[in-house]
Amino acid sequence: MVNTEQQGASLFIGLGNMGRPMVLKYAPDRELFVFDVNGETAAEVAAEAGATALADLDSIPAQVRTVILMLPNSRIVEQVLRGEPGLLSRLATGSLVIDMSSSEPASTVALAKEAASLGIGYVDAPVSGGVAKAVTGQLAIMVGGQDDSVARALPHLEPLAASTVHVGPPGTGHAAKALHNLLSATNLAAAAEILSVAKAVGIAPVKMLEVINGGTGRSQASEFKYPKHVLTGAFDSGFAMDLMLKDLTIAQGLIESTASQAPIVLTARETAVKAREVLDSPNPDHTEIARYYEKLNGTLLRAN
Ligand code: NAD
Repeated sequence: MVNTEQQGASLFIGLGNMGRPMVLKYAPDRELFVFDVNGETAAEVAAEAGATALADLDSIPAQVRTVILMLPNSRIVEQVLRGEPGLLSRLATGSLVIDMSSSEPASTVALAKEAASLGIGYVDAPVSGGVAKAVTGQLAIMVGGQDDSVARALPHLEPLAASTVHVGPPGTGHAAKALHNLLSATNLAAAAEILSVAKAVGIAPVKMLEVINGGTGRSQASEFKYPKHVLTGAFDSGFAMDLMLKDLTIAQGLIESTASQAPIVLTARETAVKAREVLDSPNPDHTEIARYYEKLNGTLLRAN
């Protein structure tokens, strides 16, 4: 058990597809409280992790010194920290907030300033690797924050991560995450295009993937997402297309605000926007971008 007198207890908020497996890796040997607006989920995760579920955030246990957020977007992060329940104003001076959600860099910069004025450290530590790497505690974490806060955050990230990279001051972790996901989405869409054309010329998707993965065109999409989530027809990565679109919109904002030229990756965002309009499922998985190409080209990628 972590020495609670020195380090205090932790509170993990947001127990969805990612938060849930992350809590299971984070929980051992520490005093941990968990919260989710879905109380049933919170109770289940608490029981599984040996943590204590909070019914609401109105009264934070006095021993909490570290808050970890794994929430859908900045609007909700802001609501939790400065709206109702307004955690920032109720945490003890010297506490640390680690936002592991994929949030908007500008919002993070503002929240980090506000936290600093209250004597609270603030670190953005979004993740890559999806549910699969959350389950095994092998996420890639990109960290933004002041050096002293990052040093305090690292022991909390260690049980969750295969790698952590401190990229710069507050907000840069979230910027790196959005840009990373724009590249990842580009790889995902580009692979669907190549597999579609390959199929049209008579090469089965499974064979074309073998070629790509033995060559220099490979990516995590071709090596992992297509075999596991697309060719099987399962489309069950656990990363919603809407969450991917959020990331791509943040990245687009970064490209525009810096007047950078990045036409290829911006096309990937436009493609994802169209796919979201065309796909009939209410909450498509991001790997269903391949289903969009199936519709566009009138050919099945999953039937090889
Ligand atoms: P999710 O929708 O599965 O989970 C979000 C959780 O937050 C839900 O359990 C929801 O009930 C809870 N929640 C919503 N509002 C809340 C509030 N006000 N207070 C407390 N809890 C609240 O989402 P996810 O897939 O777990 O993603 C979480 C974050 O991680 C997002 O920012 C996402 O972009 C990012 N992310 C996801 C993946 C992935 O593969 N799913 C990978 C990397 C990063």
